[in-house]
Amino acid sequence: MNIAPVTAAIMLDELIRNCQKNLPAVNVELIKKAFDFSAVAHENDTRASNEPYFTHPYAVANILATEIPFDDISVSCALLHDIVEDNMEYSIDTIKKNFGDDIALIVDGLTKIQQLFQGADINQAENYRKLLMSVSKDIRVIVVKFADRLHNMRTIDFLNPEKRKRIAKETLEIYAPLAHRFGLGKLKWELEDLAFKELNKQGYEDIKKKISAKRPEREKYIDKFSEPIIQKINEYGIKFEISGRPKHLYSIYRKMIKRNKPFEEIYDLFAVRIILDTDDVNQCYTAFGIINQVFIPVPDRFKDYIAIPKTNNYQSIHTTVVGPDGELVEVQIRTRKMHDIAEKGVAAHWRYKEGNPTIDQTMNSYVSWIREMIESSGTEDVRKNILENFKLNLYSDEIYVFTPNGDLRRLPLKSTPVDFAFDIHSKIGFHCIGAKVNKKIVPLDTQLHSGDQVEIIISKNQHPNRNWLKFVITHKAKTEVRKWLNKEDDDLAKAGKELWEKKIKKLKLSFTQQDIAKVYLNLKFDNSKQLYKAIAQGKINLDEILSSHLPDKEEEKKSPQVNAEFENFAQYARSSGGKLVVNGESSDLLFSYSKCCNPIPGDQVVGFITKGEGIKIHRKNCKSMLQLSEKESEKIISVEWPALENSNFIVGLSLKGEDQPGLLSEIAHQVVTFQNTNIKSINIDTKNSKFEGTVTLFVQNLEHLSRVIDRLKKIKGVYTVTRLENYVQ
Ligand code: MN
Repeated sequence: MNIAPVTAAIMLDELIRNCQKNLPAVNVELIKKAFDFSAVAHENDTRASNEPYFTHPYAVANILATEIPFDDISVSCALLHDIVEDNMEYSIDTIKKNFGDDIALIVDGLTKIQQLFQGADINQAENYRKLLMSVSKDIRVIVVKFADRLHNMRTIDFLNPEKRKRIAKETLEIYAPLAHRFGLGKLKWELEDLAFKELNKQGYEDIKKKISAKRPEREKYIDKFSEPIIQKINEYGIKFEISGRPKHLYSIYRKMIKRNKPFEEIYDLFAVRIILDTDDVNQCYTAFGIINQVFIPVPDRFKDYIAIPKTNNYQSIHTTVVGPDGELVEVQIRTRKMHDIAEKGVAAHWRYKEGNPTIDQTMNSYVSWIREMIESSGTEDVRKNILENFKLNLYSDEIYVFTPNGDLRRLPLKSTPVDFAFDIHSKIGFHCIGAKVNKKIVPLDTQLHSGDQVEIIISKNQHPNRNWLKFVITHKAKTEVRKWLNKEDDDLAKAGKELWEKKIKKLKLSFTQQDIAKVYLNLKFDNSKQLYKAIAQGKINLDEILSSHLPDKEEEKKSPQVNAEFENFAQYARSSGGKLVVNGESSDLLFSYSKCCNPIPGDQVVGFITKGEGIKIHRKNCKSMLQLSEKESEKIISVEWPALENSNFIVGLSLKGEDQPGLLSEIAHQVVTFQNTNIKSINIDTKNSKFEGTVTLFVQNLEHLSRVIDRLKKIKGVYTVTRLENYVQ
C-alpha cells in the first residue's frame, strides 16, 4: 500500500526532527535516502493491521530516534530492516551498493535473526548462538532488533492467537533478558509487561486494577515520606527530583509467584527514587546520609552499586528505611546520568562515548560476555545448554567477592569456589582441589557471599568431576566442566572401542549395531559409548561377554548359505577362463564338476569318464579318486584348466563384518593397489549394519593371496576374510 506524498513528507520531517533532537550528529541525507528507499521497497506491502507496511519500519526508526536514541546509522537500518527479508527483489548487495558496508552488515544481521526465529524453536539454542554472533559483530544489530520487537509487541493485537503467543513467549524468554543485559531497563519493562499481558491477560488486568485502586493512598504516603527529605536536601543546596518509583506489573507478578504471597504483601513495600541533578557522585552519599538522619535505616539492606556497578553497568545506592507509620520504604539514590544509564543502558553509553576514552571499555563490556559465550559453546552438548545457562545467569542477582590480592570479582548469587576458580581462569578451575574462604578451608560446594575473600588451592592431579555439575552456577564453570567430562568420556570410549574391535576380529565375530545394542542393554548401559567406556575402564570382562557369541563351528561349516556362495563363485571361476584342456588340447567334451571335491581353477584336477554325465572333473587329491580300483583308474584322463594370463589363478574370498561408509571402495582400493592383483567381481550384501560379501580376484600364488587377505583384514569394519573353498570334503 502506498503512502500519499504529502503524508510521507510530514513523516520524514518528523523523523528528522526527532533525530536532530536526540542524536549526536545526524546525516539528514542518509536518513532521507533510507526513508525513500524503504517506502518504495514496501509500497506493495500491507501490515496485519491493514496499514501500509512502511508504517512499521518508520515506527521502529522513530523508536531509535526517541526512546532508545542511538545514531543515524541505526535509524537508517531501522528503515531498511525488513526489506531484504520481505522482498525478493532486494538483496544485501543492493543495500551495500546504496548504503555502504556498515549498514549492509547490520541489515544482514537483522535479516538473519528474523530467519532464525521464523522456524519452530527446535534448534533454539543454535539459533540463539547465531543471534549472539551477529550481535557481537555490531552492537547496533541488537539495538535495532529491540526497537523492532518493541513495535511488534505494541501492535501484536492484529496477529493470530498462535503467533501472538509464540512472539510473546520469545520476547519474555529471550529479548527481555537480553535487554536487561544491555542495561535497557525501560525497554525491558515494557517488553515484559506487553508479553505478560499477552500470556496471562487475567493476571495482568488483576494487578493493573489493584495498582490503580491503591494509587491515591500510595501517593499520599509518598508525599508524607518525601516532605522532610526534600526540606533537608534543600538545605544542602543539592538539586534533585524525588518520586514514588513505579514498579512494572510483571515484576510484581514474578515476586508474588516467587514468594508465594498475595499482591498486597508485595506491593505494600513502598519505593522512592531520588535523582540528583549533578555529576558529582559524592552528592549521592551526602543524600544517603541525609535520609539516614531523617529515618532509621534497616540494617543489611544497604547496597552500593555506585562503588561496584552491576554487570550491565547499572549504578545506584539502594537502601531501606523505616518511614512514617513504621512502613518500610526502599530508596534508590543516583545521579541523572546514572538514571539515564539505568533506563537506556548501552544507548546511553553510546551517546556519552564522544570525547570520553574510558567509555569504549564500557561499550566493550556489553559485548565481551557474548564473545565468551560463543567461544565456549563448541560442542553440541554445550550448545544445548546455552539458553538454560543464559537465563539462569541473567535473572540472578550478583555477589561481590575478592581475590587474596583484593581484586573484585562479580559472580551470580549462589556461586561456589569452583565458579570463582573458573572465573579467574579455566586452568585454575580444572585443577582446583580446595578453597579458603576468609582464610578458612571450606568444601568446594560452599556458597559464597558478598565480601568473602576467596583463595583457591590447586593441584596438578586434580580434575573436574561430575559432581561439580550439581553445584556450579556460572555459565563458564558449567561449560568448561561439561567440556572436560565429555572429552574424558570420548577418550575412554575410543580406547574401549578399539579393544572391543580387536577382540571380535580375533574371534572372527561380527556384530551389527543391533547386536551391540543387545550387549549394552543386557549390561544395563544406555548406549555403546558407555559400554566402550566400561571396557576401557576394565569394569567388564570382554571374554565373558563374548563367550556366548562364539559360533558353533560345525554349524557354520554346514551353513547352506556358504555352499551357495561357493557354488556361485565356482561356476563363475570355471567359466571365466575358457575351455578345459584335455590331454593338452582345448576340448568341447561334456564336462561336469564333481560335488564331492568341488574343484575350482587353481586346483590340480583330473577327469573321470562317466556313463551319461560325460567327464567328471575331480581334484587330483580327492578321496574318491585316491580310492579308485585299478580298473576304474583307467577311466582317468589328464585335464587342465585353461591357461590364464600371467599364470594367475582365480580365487574367491568371503568377507564379513560391520558396514561402514565407503567400505566397498576401500575394499576395491586395497586390492587393486596391490601389486598385480586383478578384481573380477565384488559383491557386497548389507543387512542392517552387517555386511557379507565375496570378492573374486586373480592372484599369482598362495603367498600373494595371503598378502591380499592380510590387507583386507586391516580394513575398518572387516572382521573375517576367508577363502571360498569346498567345505564338503
Ligand atoms: Mn520488523
